[in-house]
Amino acid sequence: MYGRRAEARRIATVKNLTAPRGTFDILPPESSQWQVLERIIDEVCARFGYREIRTPIFESSEVFVRTIGVGTDIVDKEMYTFIDRGGRSISLRPEMTAPVVRAALAHNLLQTLPLKLYYRGPIFRYERPQKGRYRQAHQWGVECFGAAGPEADAEIIALSLEMMRAVGIVDYRLEINSLGCAQCAPAFREALVAYLSEQAAALSETSRERLQRNPLRILDSKDDLDRAVLAGAPTMERFLCESCQQHFADLRFLLESMGIRALHNPHIVRGLDYYTRTVFEIHSVALGAQDSVCGGGRYDGLVQAMGGPPTPGVGVAMGMDRMLMLSRSSGAAAEQDGQTRLQVAFVALDDESARLLVPVLQAVRARGIAADMDYLRRKLERQLRAAGESGARFAVIMGEDERTAGDVTIQDLATRARVRVGLTRVDAELAQRLA
Ligand code: ATP
Ligand code: MG
Repeated sequence: MYGRRAEARRIATVKNLTAPRGTFDILPPESSQWQVLERIIDEVCARFGYREIRTPIFESSEVFVRTIGVGTDIVDKEMYTFIDRGGRSISLRPEMTAPVVRAALAHNLLQTLPLKLYYRGPIFRYERPQKGRYRQAHQWGVECFGAAGPEADAEIIALSLEMMRAVGIVDYRLEINSLGCAQCAPAFREALVAYLSEQAAALSETSRERLQRNPLRILDSKDDLDRAVLAGAPTMERFLCESCQQHFADLRFLLESMGIRALHNPHIVRGLDYYTRTVFEIHSVALGAQDSVCGGGRYDGLVQAMGGPPTPGVGVAMGMDRMLMLSRSSGAAAEQDGQTRLQVAFVALDDESARLLVPVLQAVRARGIAADMDYLRRKLERQLRAAGESGARFAVIMGEDERTAGDVTIQDLATRARVRVGLTRVDAELAQRLA
């Protein structure tokens, strides 16, 4: 541990400060693609009846350990956990479902059901960075509490696909499965462990360890050794109780009625402990090795496990970084670029003109017009060229001549037509011309 002084000294002597491994800066113009994506998320979620919740970026570690579960990659290897100055164990959130439930309980939101919430923002996982896999990643997601029936599951799947459509992603594959409930899942788990124990010698080392801790997670393995063993493993399908079977059949019926094609993949298990019944994933081959775009499902036991009343719930989390990768590769993101176009460029040719133009610029901006002024006092031609490149439609120019007359020149940057307008009328004149 560094003392505070030593730490400050150490930071001061670092030569090239770079973003931590697995994180990245979002710079303009790319940041406008993020803004577009964020607006799409807000719009689509609102259209489906979800309202935004924002929770802290860090939580008591308990929130995640108790819900995601020991034996999962996230809790065992990926969490950023530290002891704060008050001696508490804190973790940067690796996902947002548990924090949403924590907040819903803390504020008694579950007393009026249904409760439909969405979120978007950064998550943190200590992973090996590679294309599409970061240590600070971004997710949006929704959680729907109170509805046990399959309509909620179907709605969330439909919402996920609508989001893909809205950002221009068309090439993907939706896979669904049912993990059963507290009644029927244990028998499956037993059968699976029995089968895998028999085949233990043929499993990868990681999976042999998981056999004790979290056998279901083996179903998710991408290891070739494991895949061979898994081909002959029992699947949940055979063990589903009658009501789980019905729930799954109804969900598939609802999806079909909306024209949504879903593949039943009995090997989807999701990495977290809290899922029951429906689980689903969307994959895209265009992503390469990290091909999952989103994961979701039902978690009827989660609220109770966190100390709340028994409350059914279902949700999804989609990776925003991967969405943008896909949207860019399909050309859709570029189309939406350049949102914040400058409309008016102020050109002051000397110090005194700049001083006089400041309140005029302010008045123009106050009318809702995107305007900017060059503070570098460059030559007229240089400033006009920059104004043209920025996409502005008008330049407001003041040099000695205009200043003495108490007016400005407004130049239409497309036609080069010029008019002189009195200082006090510039904002009204521009508003009228831009209307
Ligand atoms: P993966 O199989 O890629 O590890 P996961 O099952 O860990 O995914 P979830 O926990 O279901 O992922 O998170 C939902 C989505 O969030 C993923 O489908 C992915 O798009 C995104 N995501 C998760 N972890 C990362 C990460 N480290 N970097 C970028 N995106 C991520
Ligand atoms: Mg992962």
